[in-house]
Amino acid sequence: MRSEYTDPKKLLDDIDVEQSVRPSAFAEFIGQPKVVENLKLYIKAAKERGEALDHVLLFGPPGLGKTTLANIVARELNVNIKTSSGPVIERAGDLAGMLTNLQHGDVFFIDEIHRLNNVVEEYLYSAMEDYNIDIVIDKGPSARSIQLNLEHFTLIGATTRLGHLTSPMRDRFGVVLRLDYYREEDLFNILKRTAKILNIELNDAGAAEIAKRARGTPRIANRILRRARDFAQVKATGVIDQEVARKSLKLLDIDERGLDAMDRTILLTIMQKFSGGPVGLNSLAVAVGEESETIEDVYEPYLIQNGFLQRTTRGRQVTQQAYKYFGLPMSKEQHSLFE
Ligand code: ADP
Repeated sequence: MRSEYTDPKKLLDDIDVEQSVRPSAFAEFIGQPKVVENLKLYIKAAKERGEALDHVLLFGPPGLGKTTLANIVARELNVNIKTSSGPVIERAGDLAGMLTNLQHGDVFFIDEIHRLNNVVEEYLYSAMEDYNIDIVIDKGPSARSIQLNLEHFTLIGATTRLGHLTSPMRDRFGVVLRLDYYREEDLFNILKRTAKILNIELNDAGAAEIAKRARGTPRIANRILRRARDFAQVKATGVIDQEVARKSLKLLDIDERGLDAMDRTILLTIMQKFSGGPVGLNSLAVAVGEESETIEDVYEPYLIQNGFLQRTTRGRQVTQQAYKYFGLPMSKEQHSLFE
């Protein structure tokens, strides 16, 4: 079963719209006050010294604004940004090509940086630390390696989970910032802003309803908004009010707490097939038909944050709250686990 997050068609349809609603300056970026405050300070200091900003690592679940922030940082620094992603950079040569094109102070953004392969990752170390790389010229017996100096650049890495990164990689970032799920009022304002840009009629009650159920994630809030617009256009007066928002959310199978079909499948599977857990991630992934990495990065953090799921040393386990939410009785063994 493919979810909203992994369906390639759905993601493609999002790309254009995402570009048009992406905030391009801190003034437009709503929420995440600590992250913004930190970045502004370091940018100011780097600019005053005329130096490149220290390397920055942004981590947090997908759709919270890591790519957006990388672009804003480059803009505020008045430098160019080159963008790539971990799985795309296959060979050290690919990386060398990108690095040698950077000018002083430029931002090099690597999304999903935890997915770089070992060879490329190690190659990146000297570039980050000493701003030089070794390249091999010529082939066969006359092949030799020469050291090439790079301009001082800023690497901005994005990752869904800090734990996925090797420690030598992590240690090379001077600034490490974590993005949290957004508060409802922030999502409300993000929705209002997006609606304005896309010319969607969205009233306050409609925005509040979507904000409440968007898993604290701007990308999801914006996506629900667009589906609600379709609904309003075809089945209602064109305005997204609370009623239209509710009906659209029902159609998307998103419930009162913002849980979608896969969230519920995960919780119900643990309760019904694994008697509440603990269950290992891989067994769970097989049972629900989703990749373990997606469960770990996309679903689990939200379920944990909302008190439905716990991670123990022996695996994943649902909480009492999950049983209550689904109105299911707990077994004796489960009761004893919580006592
Ligand atoms: P990530 O790189 O963390 O997966 P993105 O930066 O691509 O997330 O953000 C996803 C979308 O959410 C963006 O297109 C942008 O429109 C929206 N978005 C993210 N953060 C904010 C914010 N703070 N304010 C307004 N919109 C935001």
